[in-house]
Amino acid sequence: MSIKQRYQRQTILPEIGDLGQEKISAASVLCVGAGGLGCPALLYLAAAGVGRIGIVDFDAVDETNLQRQVLFTTDQIGRNKAQAAAERLRALNPHIELQEHPEELNNHNAEALFEDYDIVIDGTDNFATKFLINDTAVKTGTPFIYGSILGFDGQLAVFNHNGGPCYRCLFPGAPKGQIPNCAEAGIIGAVAGIIGTSQAMEALKIIVAHESFSPLSGKLWVIDMHSMANKTLSLPKNHNCPTCSKTSKDIALHYSSPICSPIAEISCAQARKNKAALVIDVREREEWAADHIENAQHFALSRLMQGHTPDIPTDQDIILYCQKGVRSMQAAQILQNQGYSNLSNMTGGYEAWLTRNEV
Ligand SMILES: [Zn+2]
Repeated sequence: MSIKQRYQRQTILPEIGDLGQEKISAASVLCVGAGGLGCPALLYLAAAGVGRIGIVDFDAVDETNLQRQVLFTTDQIGRNKAQAAAERLRALNPHIELQEHPEELNNHNAEALFEDYDIVIDGTDNFATKFLINDTAVKTGTPFIYGSILGFDGQLAVFNHNGGPCYRCLFPGAPKGQIPNCAEAGIIGAVAGIIGTSQAMEALKIIVAHESFSPLSGKLWVIDMHSMANKTLSLPKNHNCPTCSKTSKDIALHYSSPICSPIAEISCAQARKNKAALVIDVREREEWAADHIENAQHFALSRLMQGHTPDIPTDQDIILYCQKGVRSMQAAQILQNQGYSNLSNMTGGYEAWLTRNEV
């Protein structure tokens, strides 16, 4: 079978055609992280024939990755992910070039890596690396395709493309804390699959650049896969952005390797005794309206996930609760990423609070 036949089902699309396929074959994409997002993104980019694909991942395949990281097979457990992914993708498509980068992306290697590729896919799960990706992308003039998942929620955006906003236009401040990886936060593989696959689609749209395509530049697509309810939010460019309002040479790259620190648990009884603490209900508006802990404040997890930040002091104890204690743990992890270190999750949530039987 000729290479032309391999791509025939996409080249018959008028939006792609032979010209689009030539662009795909000439393109290069760097995927930072071969995890839940990177695996599906890489599969579709390689299958579509993206001419050169780089994979950055220092981590090894673990058995607990296999429920979502669909590139890997059981016999690859223990192998470096960049190498294991490249091996699998070579078997899928021997006509493309795969470059393995079995290292951690950091402020020393990021610029040279990015300069070697047309587009970057963000397959990471922590803010420290997302900020480094963003800042390096702006510095090197590389568009990058952001993806994020938490529970059943997914987010997708294209940053630094054709003068559009960057990630720091959305989240200007570098968080002091870190995001937990999927070892702590629950995740269903298909949720990552939808976002990772969509990242591949955005990359292909940018590469082919057919007039009918509108990449998600200046927009944030948000989906709740409980119901598949989704919306596209506008993201204006921030003209005082700490990164993209600067010239390339003035953008300094910083990075500190993310370390997951556990969130403290607090019982309802302890929470009742801590009168000085600020208690925050992270349930949705209707749940809060139905009933809530007296003197608590309300800030829904969904708003935190959309990037809204509550106006709360950093020097006060903060106790978070939801109905059962799961969503409030996610909220605590997001706030930890925003630099809060004095957070506790109320075990058992509002249901436990109401029983008063807890120890
Ligand atoms: Zn910006």
